[in-house]
Amino acid sequence: MLVEHIDDIADLLACPRCGADLARTPADRLSCSKKCAGDAQPVLPRLAGKDVLVDFDRSVLDREATLASGASSVVKRGSWRTVFRHVVDGTNPYVGMFARMMLDGVKRDPAPGPKTIVMFGAGEEGYGSKPLYEDPDVRIVAFDIYASPIVTFVADAHNVPVKDASVDGVWLQGMLEFTIDPRRVVAEASRILKPGGFMFTDTTFMFPLCEKAYDFHRWSPSGLRWLFRDFTVSASGQSTGPGTMAALAIRYLLQSLLRSTKLGQIAAFPFVALRFLDRFCADRRALDASVGMFMFGRKALQPIDVDELIAYYDEQPALFATTRRLARDATLRSTLTAPSGV
Ligand SMILES: [Zn+2]
Repeated sequence: MLVEHIDDIADLLACPRCGADLARTPADRLSCSKKCAGDAQPVLPRLAGKDVLVDFDRSVLDREATLASGASSVVKRGSWRTVFRHVVDGTNPYVGMFARMMLDGVKRDPAPGPKTIVMFGAGEEGYGSKPLYEDPDVRIVAFDIYASPIVTFVADAHNVPVKDASVDGVWLQGMLEFTIDPRRVVAEASRILKPGGFMFTDTTFMFPLCEKAYDFHRWSPSGLRWLFRDFTVSASGQSTGPGTMAALAIRYLLQSLLRSTKLGQIAAFPFVALRFLDRFCADRRALDASVGMFMFGRKALQPIDVDELIAYYDEQPALFATTRRLARDATLRSTLTAPSGV
């Protein structure tokens, strides 16, 4: 269940500048308990009803611009855009399954205390992630770089205001490509995660730019594995494949030829059907041309080395086969979410 009141996770929060506990000021704002920036340190603002836990000296966010905008998103968002994207560009059909597996896994951890999953870049509800918000037994802490009704607080994913090794799962769905320094973001996910804690990520490979000036990265499957080298990976695969890529290529070709985004979208609409061919494309060749891809795994004791990275290329078809088996094999799901013993 989404944590709406930040005081309910006071045990997890840390100063975004120095990592010390946060304290409430007489004006009911949050501030560093150690005043790490001196007595003149500004308290952390609250904008649009959300505490902004950002060290502006080390953030892509500018303090004055954030205050002036009320921590609103610089990118236009809206339900029709989300619906259009889902219908035309496709979605990851496995997200809901991985959400339920992560919930199951964190609840099976025998350690006492509440269980927590932190959702990075979760200002918009990711397709398929609803089970996370509906489980009453797991705390869902969601943040994004802008205020939205479904974030617990505003924060910069490069500098997460959460204590080391304090949470049971991290969820990075459709957000890494929009971060300036994704390696640092993943390092933050690893830092706040307990040993053996769960990780899910979903991002883009051969997808055109989504958020224009704020869209920075794409990864091959092996590149994504190296980004998450501090994790084990027990299942991975493509969310959308070459059929979707063909539909996208035709749409962008038509948009460019017609000099119009809207006309191109209309002209290309019949080709949306191409993406249904993805269901017949699950082999090595398809993985080499995925549009979107994902990984499910756990925090490892040691990072993989380059030899293991090279070996990962040959492991990918089996890991995608594992994903498809998970959908019908409860025993396998249970095996992958068993207490890790670390
Ligand atoms: Zn501090």
